[in-house]
Order: sequence, then C-alpha cells, then structure tokens
Amino acid sequence: MAHLNSHYLKLKAGYLFPEITRRVKTFTDANPDAAARLIRCGIGDVTEPLPVAVREAMHKAVDELGVRETFRGYGPEQGQEFLRHAIAENDYRKRGLEIADDEIFVSDGSKCDCANILDILGVGNRIAVMDPVYPVYVDTNVMAGHTGGANEAGVYEGLVYLPCTEANGFMPGVPDEKVDLVYLCSPNNPTGAVATRQRLEEWVRYAADNEAILLYDAAYEAYITDADVPRSIYEIPGARDCAIEFRSFSKNGGFTGVRCAFTVLPKAIQCRTESGEKTALHPLWNRRFSTKFNGVSYVTQRGAEALYSSEGRKEVADLVSHYMENARILREAMNGSGLTVFGGVNAPYIWVQGPKGSTSWEIFDKVLNEAHIVITPGSGFGSAGEGYFRISAFNSRANAEEAGRRLAALKW
Ligand SMILES: *Cc1c(COP(=O)(O)O)cnc(C)c1O
Repeated sequence: MAHLNSHYLKLKAGYLFPEITRRVKTFTDANPDAAARLIRCGIGDVTEPLPVAVREAMHKAVDELGVRETFRGYGPEQGQEFLRHAIAENDYRKRGLEIADDEIFVSDGSKCDCANILDILGVGNRIAVMDPVYPVYVDTNVMAGHTGGANEAGVYEGLVYLPCTEANGFMPGVPDEKVDLVYLCSPNNPTGAVATRQRLEEWVRYAADNEAILLYDAAYEAYITDADVPRSIYEIPGARDCAIEFRSFSKNGGFTGVRCAFTVLPKAIQCRTESGEKTALHPLWNRRFSTKFNGVSYVTQRGAEALYSSEGRKEVADLVSHYMENARILREAMNGSGLTVFGGVNAPYIWVQGPKGSTSWEIFDKVLNEAHIVITPGSGFGSAGEGYFRISAFNSRANAEEAGRRLAALKW
C-alpha cells in the first residue's frame, strides 16, 4: 500500500473557524430572532466590490483573448513583464528601493507563496514564528516535516515561538538563540501591530549576524498610515541580502476572490548548500515557478496592473479609507469599554485584552450572547493570544457603526 505524508497527521484539526461556526450556529438555533441581528466582525476577508479600474481592465483583457490577433496562451510562469515592471517600479523603485523587475514573482496568493517558499529551503533549519501567528506559517512547516508533534495547547516541538506581548508592542525582538528562518508579519494579522524601523533594523542585523533569512509578510502594507513606519523590509539597509517579501493584492485591491499576489526575492540572497558553500536562492525560486506553476491568468494580471493606474490608485485609497474608518469607529467604541485596546491604526484589525481572568472563548461567548457580534478569540492564533480577541474592520459602514454602538454598550 502507498504511504502518505505522515507529517500531515501531526496537524491539529483546523479548530478555530469550525469552532466559531459551531458556537454561532448553537446560538442562532436557540435565538432565531437574534440571528437576523448578528454582525460578523470575525472575518479576515474584504467586503467591498472590486474597483472599476480593475473590472474595466479585466473586461478588456477578456475581449483581447477573444480575437486571434491578440489571443494569448501560456504566459511567463513568473508573471507578465508588464505586471512585474509595474510592481517593481511603483512599489519599490519610485520609493528609492532597488528592486529589479525579475526579482518580482507573480502568484495566485501570498498564502500559497508563504507555503511554497519552503520548497527551496532545506530541512534542518531552525524556524521562528510570532505568537500569536498566522496559522499558515506553522502548518506548512508541519506538513514539510520541519517540526515534531504538538502539545495540548497546539505548540509544536522544534519551532521557536516569539511571544507578542504588550511589553514588546506585539512585535518581538530578536531571540537569544540562533535561528535560520524567521516569519515576520507587519502590519500584523491578528494583533494589528506594526514593526518600527528600529525593530526591523534589529532583525536585519540579526539575520546578517546569524546568516538567517527573514520571511516578511506585508500583505497589509496599504493600511500603514504612520509616515515613519516602513512599508517594505527593503527600506532597511542590508535587507536585500537577507529578506524575502510577500505582498498581495487581496487586502488593498479587494482581490481575495480574484487571486493575485507576489514575492520579492532579491538576487543577493544566499543560503548554504549541504557541503557548506554559499549559493543564491533566486535561481531556485525561478526554477520552481517554471516547473510547478504556469502563471496567473492574463486577465487577472491585467486587473492587478490597473491597480497602479491613477484611477486604480484612487480606488485603492478609497477602499483602504473605508476599512480604516470602520477601524476607527470600532476602536473608539472599545476605548470607552475600560478594556485595553491595540491596533486598528496601521491595520484593519483591533486587538483587545479581555478582562483579567477571562479566556478568549469566554469573551467570544459573552460578545455573541450579549451583543450578537462574532469576534475572533485570540487564543485561536496561539497561546500568547489567550485572553485577547480580534475585531475585524472588514465590513460595510452600516455594520461597523451598529457593531460600534453595541460594543460600546457592553458591560465588562
Ligand atoms: C490575507 C493575508 C494574506 C494574503 O493572502 P492571499 O493568499 O494573497 O489572499 C497573507 N498574509 C496574511 C497574514 C493575511 O492575513
């Protein structure tokens, strides 16, 4: 009989979102009247329609495909030149960051990129993740056999967890021990925290000293409002030698359903071979794309390109302001609650510390039962999230305002 990948059996059953669904269903079954009032502030998905500039570009691209003279079949696996150029030029070179077009790799999502990058990295690396954490970083390392088993709390043997606490601004500093790969996510899902320039400088110095690679997830870059918060890891001198950046059109352009993202992998980044020689990673990533991927659809790439047009930029700015105004409404509602409130300034997530002694699930039940609002329990993202909860600003304005009124009225 064929063997399966037994590392998959170490995965903790996807617990967080199924458990939320189960509890919401129990509540709405018992309270059919309240079901209609339910507001979901638990989702990490956008709610507002796709920009007009994107839709027009996609319609035009479909029509091009309908004519023999402009029809296109397979494109370059790494992305169409027009999109790689638009990304490198607008997101990097215009900001003084030296990134070449062929250091951009266009994909169908950052989730996939964060997972696929492990293909070109070896086994035996020491891996650090933030806690609480975007579960993809952990689970993909489990699947690749980079960890041992998990304990009751879901903590995997062999991973280095970097606790995100109020004391470190929910953005951990460098560890005392040596690690080889570090996942950093800023602006952060779930805490809404951002890495300051100084914190990123510490990490880049650490990476240089320890020959480590930083895997920098900047999916929420568009939500940064503070002028002195870096928008890219490459704003930090030396990052070109040690950092891979993951960016996505999901949260800025509303592409969660359309699917398009990219990685930046500078040619300067090196790793060691088994025999100890240093060699560049870029050719391996390039080779991986050629072999395992046939590119994002032409229509989608034309849609993504349109996000960089003047109309597209304006629409992205409007989408971001819409969600950030929701974040302001929800944050202010929570500020009056007496609880300690974080995030929601440079990210569409608000991170709240519950009353002392309450678990995240107890808080979840209270908010569901008393305010008919669905939030996300912090403990679902890692043990350091226990006692916290996340409120998402991805919603209509009407829902955010109503959720704000109800949250402000809750007695803790
Ligand atoms: C939403 C999100 C992404 C984007 O994923 P896509 O696959 O591009 O939709 C990446 N990282 C984090 C932490 C996210 O929350």
